[in-house]
Amino acid sequence: MTERDLAGRVALVTGGSRGIGRAICRRLARAGAWVAINYTSDEESAGETLARIRADGGEGDVYRADVSSMEETDAMFGAIEGDRGPVDLLVTNAGIASFQDDIDMPVDLWRRILSVNLDGTFHCVWRAKAGMLARGDGRIVCIASINGLAPSRIRADRLIAYGTSKSAVIGFSRNCAIAFGPAIRVNCVAPGLIDTDMTRDMSDDLRQHIIESTPARRFGTPDDIAELTWFLLSDAAGFITGQTHVASGGLVTLP
Ligand code: NAD
Repeated sequence: MTERDLAGRVALVTGGSRGIGRAICRRLARAGAWVAINYTSDEESAGETLARIRADGGEGDVYRADVSSMEETDAMFGAIEGDRGPVDLLVTNAGIASFQDDIDMPVDLWRRILSVNLDGTFHCVWRAKAGMLARGDGRIVCIASINGLAPSRIRADRLIAYGTSKSAVIGFSRNCAIAFGPAIRVNCVAPGLIDTDMTRDMSDDLRQHIIESTPARRFGTPDDIAELTWFLLSDAAGFITGQTHVASGGLVTLP
């Protein structure tokens, strides 16, 4: 595998303006892919991701779309196709979590979390798959969570909707891998606790408890997830599809 093993490929990363998405954008660009950076509202941060890609010698552009809308997702794919060609590599990373008590969760919040995390994944995969199948080549990584594999023991009362949405993303990606093989490989990445804006509101006590329960004795970094995602999109992972890959420093171990 060469350092620029994704050269000539067009990648789309949803939620690429910050956190894990930004790190994935930069990693794929360093591997030579042309990267479409999706954002919903923070154009400045998406522009910062693009600036960092360019500083690393890579290429890409920014595209606005709320992935919970099929219409906006469709328009974004159309714009990328017009500018650069069809999407070969798709990373569905956009996601939201609520940190209020889910026990009294309003129905609207349930629907919003499911519509971004699950429908947003579906919209992107559905829009990408026809072209990938026609070309006989496509690679997809869906970003789920360890909360999609097992309910959180620490903050389960806050993660009912989030955990449910991520379990569904795992099930969706498995089904897609079976339905769309051999043309398209579909894998899930299930991160553990990663240092991003999403986890920044945790108390010091909770952070310490998680670190002590984690064999790696640290939170993950966005780059930890970006490296795994890049690998799954690369030729080196050609025999890997339909799997969920946990990157949690050992906090969660699968049988
Ligand atoms: P983050 O909040 O920093 O980033 C989420 C990104 O998604 C942002 O760029 C945001 O603008 C974008 N986004 C939100 N709603 C969107 C929409 N409707 N359309 C398009 N983009 C939208 O969070 P992060 O920690 O970088 O999380 C990235 C992914 O990783 C999420 O799917 C999250 O659930 C998952 N994850 C994170 C952790 C963690 O500990 N940080 C753990 C497991 C899984």
